[in-house]
Amino acid sequence: MQSRKRRFILVGPALVAGAFVSDPIVAAGGAVSSNEASPAITWASGSFEVCLQELASTARDRDVPQGVITERLLGLAADPDVLAATRNQAEFEKPIWAYLDAGVTEARIREGQQKLQEWALTLEGIEHRFGIDRYTLVAFWGVESSYGAVLDNASVVRPVIRSLATLACGDASRSGYWRDELIAALQISGNGDVAPERFTGSWAGAMGHTQFMPRVYLAQAVDFDGDGNRDIWTSVPDALASTANYLKATGWQPGERWGAEVVLPEGFDYALADEVTERSLSEWRQLGVRPANASLAPTSDTTRATLVLPMGARGPAFLLMQNFRAILRYNTALAYALTVAHLSDRLRGAPALARDWPRSDVFLTLEERRDLQTRLTERGYPVGGIDGKVGPRTRAAIRAYQAAIGLPPDGYADASLLTRIKAAP
Ligand code: CA
Repeated sequence: MQSRKRRFILVGPALVAGAFVSDPIVAAGGAVSSNEASPAITWASGSFEVCLQELASTARDRDVPQGVITERLLGLAADPDVLAATRNQAEFEKPIWAYLDAGVTEARIREGQQKLQEWALTLEGIEHRFGIDRYTLVAFWGVESSYGAVLDNASVVRPVIRSLATLACGDASRSGYWRDELIAALQISGNGDVAPERFTGSWAGAMGHTQFMPRVYLAQAVDFDGDGNRDIWTSVPDALASTANYLKATGWQPGERWGAEVVLPEGFDYALADEVTERSLSEWRQLGVRPANASLAPTSDTTRATLVLPMGARGPAFLLMQNFRAILRYNTALAYALTVAHLSDRLRGAPALARDWPRSDVFLTLEERRDLQTRLTERGYPVGGIDGKVGPRTRAAIRAYQAAIGLPPDGYADASLLTRIKAAP
């Protein structure tokens, strides 16, 4: 049997640049209500003002016009709510089904179906030009901005340049990333695609109906309504076509689905669900893996897929194909990508997932996840760093440990696994 290893991140960093759905702190009105910078903030260059001067110098080196730097950057005050959001985000962890429950509601499905009708001609044109199906595009739109509704929420949207300048100066762990996004934002501002007062985004600088970061905007945004501006803030055709253009560039396969929920046979070898080994759909079928919903069965036998069980053997299982990886390029969190993928299926008229999540499971706290990683490492199953994040390395270590002690190797970290490993020193 031919198999091919492919590395891709299933559960990305907790900090995702985009998706208002993952900004509960800001959406709730901000954890820090004062306009004064918190004394706990350590600016990269001693003070915010000095840091702005350094950013201005870098921007000049990268050909941002001096007028834009003077008018839009220098003199800004830091936004303390933005930094509070990054800190809270890092600690924030909730089960995958909480994302799907919040992201794929009956109301969102209904509204999405209305949008499919309302924008049918535009979507047809985008499908024709970029090869991305309308259900996927409308699903992104729904998940990223509730079909644009969040853009009118003054307590959520904020000035992009101010947010990114605050992050570039105050989030030391990713200051280079934020600086590069800030410079892209200044370039956009100089291009005149958007009026300064409309140049808004999430606390992380993600902009418009489908939440593009500035560098993605510069590279991938398109003018689809033909007015000469790439306006992802107020033009639905521009925003959806820009998303299609981005997905096309990430390797989207026209006519293919993202994957499907599957049912595993009795006695299935969970070691096969290692999330990195690709097999063809016919190979998976020979192993007894069946689509949970026949109407969603992908048709091409040679299409390759990985098997993923996000919450272990007692939760739903999925075969994920190339287009799922394209969705992950938008946002590397598995919970995010599954939400977009499932919403796209529901917009097509497909039913809810056949198998429910193990909702009564007891989840591990950050400390407990670190404890589990420490104990796995001590037993000779390296996790690649005791960081409390259950990523691909940690799940591989868990699978090896489970197999060694005779448990189904599903790579799933829950309280019962921690209890088990604690009881066997
Ligand atoms: Ca336009």
